[in-house]
Amino acid sequence: MTYLDYNASAPMPEAVAGAMMAAARLCGNPSSVHAYGRKARAAIEDARREVAGAVGARPEQVVFTSGATEANAMALRCCGRPRVLVSAVEHESVLNAVGTAARISVDGNGVIDLGHLRDLLAEGGGQSVVSVMLANNETGVIQPLDAVVALASETGALVHCDAVQGPGRMPVDFTALGVDFLSLSAHKLGGPKGVGALILRLEGTLDAGMRGGGQERGLRGGTENLTGIAGFGAAARAVPAGLAQAGAVERLRNELETRVRAGAPDAVVFGDGAHRLPNTACIALPGVSAEAQVMALDLAGVAVSAGSACSSGKIKASHVLRAMGVADGLAACAIRVSLGPETGAADIESFMAAWGKLAARTRQSAA
Ligand code: PMP
Repeated sequence: MTYLDYNASAPMPEAVAGAMMAAARLCGNPSSVHAYGRKARAAIEDARREVAGAVGARPEQVVFTSGATEANAMALRCCGRPRVLVSAVEHESVLNAVGTAARISVDGNGVIDLGHLRDLLAEGGGQSVVSVMLANNETGVIQPLDAVVALASETGALVHCDAVQGPGRMPVDFTALGVDFLSLSAHKLGGPKGVGALILRLEGTLDAGMRGGGQERGLRGGTENLTGIAGFGAAARAVPAGLAQAGAVERLRNELETRVRAGAPDAVVFGDGAHRLPNTACIALPGVSAEAQVMALDLAGVAVSAGSACSSGKIKASHVLRAMGVADGLAACAIRVSLGPETGAADIESFMAAWGKLAARTRQSAA
């Protein structure tokens, strides 16, 4: 099997599964004061240090959540800013967090239009929170967060960044980024599904996302997902190793794109005029629907996504490609291939063997 869908969810290393099993066996409630409780609490605080360390934050800035969807909603709904500005290429969990959010347009590569952001901020920056992702889950395109933070700070706007696709693929330093809020998801870096974190720059800038027993410094009530959090911590520990592989991953991704272009001169690689994550390729093969490509590749044992995994299953034109000005017909032929540290040359061969057959078929029908 060839797994090329790391942006949907990354495989879990044995060490992470082991850390989860060990945590699952801890019977204490992390809020209990006895020895069992203290052991559970220690496992959570260890994981908090690991997660903070992986993204250049301090442990006390980390609030564990059920994933990035919750972290995104919490940041945008609980920060006390009535005006929400989101880039048009955000994940659905950001786009839909606040129904009245205004959309910041992007250029043909999917990079945020800073002039449009400046205009939107001029209408009331001090009342606003801006949400711009670090890197796009469908195309891998990296956003100019430095410029976003600079513009926002001129007007007193807060900045939230969905950094889910970053850790292990590009350097992520919360402090250097200068954003107020940053969202993470464990399962994109080899941790379990259903756990994530919101990182906060300053205490007191956020209202509780969920009231309850005062957990997570009162910001997110509910007995902590100890097993999941322990897995998240173990996965965060592997972030530097992932980053060390980024050059090798990029060489494989570039080889794949070169061979795709050679095999189908009309194929389109989206976002290739911008800085991109090293692991992501979003490719259209005109005339073959994404659904047909995903199915043919699946039959050959190769796993990829049609656009974003969250919207596949119900194949509709990707809002990301649409915002980039891609025609619906071409967007409907786009697949996302996303690699990881375990990807090898044999995986690229498997992909090319199956995808090359599809491309050959289109050449024959055109002839
Ligand atoms: N943001 C981005 C950029 C994502 O890729 C995803 C996962 N598809 C999410 C948010 C949602 O994360 P989670 O699955 O942890 O809710």
